[in-house]
Amino acid sequence: MPTTVPAYAATSATAPLEPTTIERRDVGPHDVLIDIAYAGICHSDIHTARGEWGGIDYPLVPGHEIAGVVREVGPEVTRHAVGDHVGVGCFVDSCRECDNCRAGQENYCLKGETGTYNGVGRDGKPTAGGYSTAIVVDEHYVLRIPAGLGLDVAAPLLCAGVTLYSPLRHWGVGPGTKVAIVGLGGLGHMGVKIAHAMGAEVTVLSQSLKKQEDGLRLGADHYYATSDPETFTALANEFHLIVNTVSANLDLAAYLGLLRLDGTLVEVGLPENPLTVPGFALLTNRRNLSGSKIGGIAETQEMLDFCAEHGFGADVEIIAADRINEAYERVVASDVRYRFVIDVSTLTA
Ligand code: NAP
Ligand code: ZN
Ligand code: ZN
Repeated sequence: MPTTVPAYAATSATAPLEPTTIERRDVGPHDVLIDIAYAGICHSDIHTARGEWGGIDYPLVPGHEIAGVVREVGPEVTRHAVGDHVGVGCFVDSCRECDNCRAGQENYCLKGETGTYNGVGRDGKPTAGGYSTAIVVDEHYVLRIPAGLGLDVAAPLLCAGVTLYSPLRHWGVGPGTKVAIVGLGGLGHMGVKIAHAMGAEVTVLSQSLKKQEDGLRLGADHYYATSDPETFTALANEFHLIVNTVSANLDLAAYLGLLRLDGTLVEVGLPENPLTVPGFALLTNRRNLSGSKIGGIAETQEMLDFCAEHGFGADVEIIAADRINEAYERVVASDVRYRFVIDVSTLTA
């Protein structure tokens, strides 16, 4: 019998999220039933719930930074056992056959990976995310949370952590690399921690100097305000890699101007409007512009193990479920230090 569980859902693009109940499928042979302990609030939850990317079937239960404990496993499950600490990120399935899935890059599944929410599962039913007390997921898409990482600080690693880890690894960041992280929010603060742990020289480019002390504590070597035009002169041709986590459209030409020869600007932020890039800003210094989307399952596991080894999770503010709407407003106002995480035990129908 499918299980009915309490959840929090958006019912339209403009209404506040509210308590509801949803059904979770029976535990199949390869499934893991997870009691969710914590769910992070990613800015993508807000973009999606508010219809900023279009195409939403309401009601929508967001949440793709899920950490919890295994309650039950199907008879064929080999990777996880009852009582294990586990996580689920942005997708819960993929085709498993395309070149990208075979290469372990399920995040780029050519047939489209199944979103943890706002997707359609193999059973043909809409998927629902982590703002709920339990979830059933195929074992392949469930990650091990290493001992030593609290479930609360681990939850945001499942999206924010891997979304920054993946490009930093892909572009070979390490000692001698000058990296800039644009925007010190949920993604950005993980970028600072991870790039620092990889040995890079890290600069934060934030709208103001309000969070400078935090940025330096998180591992940045330098901190600049982008509201000061001097910043763009002082840092011209400086960086090997810039990772832009900003959720609004920026003047990309100004940021491209900060890249040295063959440097790369990676877009991970997803603003509502298309990006505008003047050709000259790319030709100079043979610059590259790229994007990066979360990470594959193996890479997500590697990131979790990396964070545990280096002794850090996310910096979180834990909230009760009835503060989700207030948290959304604060994220949109860049007033988050540095990830809101819902204590799912406060979630009742
Ligand atoms: P967030 O916590 O709101 O952080 C974004 C940061 O960007 C803010 O804290 C702020 O930092 C800066 N910012 C916001 N508005 C700005 C503006 N108008 N001008 C300049 N800077 C601004 O959001 P998040 O959860 O980190 O997500 C960031 C973006 O990444 C979202 O668009 C989200 O959808 C996207 N995302 C993409 C992926 C992927 O796979 N590529 C995965 C997850 C999320 P300062 O105050 O320091 O300036
Ligand atoms: Zn996310
Ligand atoms: Zn695939």
